[in-house]
Amino acid sequence: MKNITQELQDWDKKYVWHPFTQMQDWLAGDPLVIVRGEGSWLIDSDGNRYLDGVASMWTNVHGHCHPVLNKALADQAARLEHSTLLGLASEQSILLAKRLIEIAPHGLTKVFYSDNGSTAVEVGLKMAYQYHRHQGEPQRSRFIRLQHAYHGDTIGSMSVGGIGIYHDTFRPLLFSTIEAPAPYCYRCPIGATDRSTCGMACLDVLEQLMIEHKEVLAGMVIEPLLQGAGGMLAHPAGYLRGVRELCDRYRLLLIADEVATGFGRTGRMFACEHEGVTPDIMAISKGLCAGYLPQAATLATETVYEAFLGSYTEQKTFFHGHTFTGNPLACAVALKNLELFEENNLLDAVQQRSEQLAVWLQRIADLEHVGDVRQCGLAAGIELVRDKATKEPYPWEERRGIRVCQEARNHGIFTRPLGNTVVAFPPLAISVSELDLLMEGLQKSILAQTQSFY
Ligand SMILES: *Cc1c(COP(=O)(O)O)cnc(C)c1O
Repeated sequence: MKNITQELQDWDKKYVWHPFTQMQDWLAGDPLVIVRGEGSWLIDSDGNRYLDGVASMWTNVHGHCHPVLNKALADQAARLEHSTLLGLASEQSILLAKRLIEIAPHGLTKVFYSDNGSTAVEVGLKMAYQYHRHQGEPQRSRFIRLQHAYHGDTIGSMSVGGIGIYHDTFRPLLFSTIEAPAPYCYRCPIGATDRSTCGMACLDVLEQLMIEHKEVLAGMVIEPLLQGAGGMLAHPAGYLRGVRELCDRYRLLLIADEVATGFGRTGRMFACEHEGVTPDIMAISKGLCAGYLPQAATLATETVYEAFLGSYTEQKTFFHGHTFTGNPLACAVALKNLELFEENNLLDAVQQRSEQLAVWLQRIADLEHVGDVRQCGLAAGIELVRDKATKEPYPWEERRGIRVCQEARNHGIFTRPLGNTVVAFPPLAISVSELDLLMEGLQKSILAQTQSFY
């Protein structure tokens, strides 16, 4: 007789195709089947508890199954589960848009809803493209993006992506973009060896690209302060400010993809705030609904919005929209999410936990096979290397990152690597002792998987 776990595992293998997963490997393993959540913890079908080290794909804010959010969701479901924004306004989407503009970087004034991070970026790209047409500069149609950029998995958002293993296969389907060097200081793409003296020469390269393509540039897309999926690449202070200035100088719209960094992850509500930057367009999604529901938004300045105004016959309308745009359940949860930020002083707590995380990372940086540790608020990447002196990476076939994460399960931790980079990206409301547990478990797992066998 099979127990319920085995039955679910069998059906998973029989019916479910998992994202970003080599299913042949998956079929050979025994997947954890998650059935409940509680605070920072995920609980599987056998009752085992795992600390959610990646905040359920970077979305979770106040913990799982939060009673206040559960109630907001249930209350809204009892009133209205969905009505469309195509031709109708709806209460919760209005209240949320108003609230988002109150907390967004000053100068963003309009909220365009969609339903995931990729679409929020794609909306931003289309807005920027059409904006220049309305300004009488249709030749301004191209975008600059960074190496190692990740902006989502649809054709448009992949076009501004720069991660070879995800995007190269599809390159012939994508529109062409201009790649700028990433400020990945540990492996500086332009060969600078000292961050303190390079004067951020990567910004000079960016400026050269802008000069070279000056007439045809519509905008630049960037993950502000932290390139998440590219390996938790934390940018040096001042880089974003520099990008903003260059975009102004060469009249590019700056599209900030705050899908991962938005809603407190960096210690401020939005990453752009750290450098006093207002983007022209800003994409948000993951933390928007505290990890409850798929919903997203693209915020725009009044200048961008006004370019689309005109008589019906001028055809300046922004023809874009998704079925579940502005879904009332999602908006109600998002509003309560923002209330909880204030009630619980969550941004202060994130700053304190970030300091605690920094202490752990310093310790972990001393390990023999840790090449670089990177942090931005409550997000961290630990890059494992074969040779610390030469920065020689582990060959990807060795799957060091995966092995460390597998080992971490023995310590009651769930996390997912980005190549050879081990990730810590917990729910923002994680407690002091839970964060200690997470980092101690990761440290032990790194030690076990980098030292004992070779
Ligand atoms: C996750 C992510 C996206 C894509 O969001 P989806 O909801 O998965 O489509 C886009 N940009 C960044 C920075 C992300 O981290």
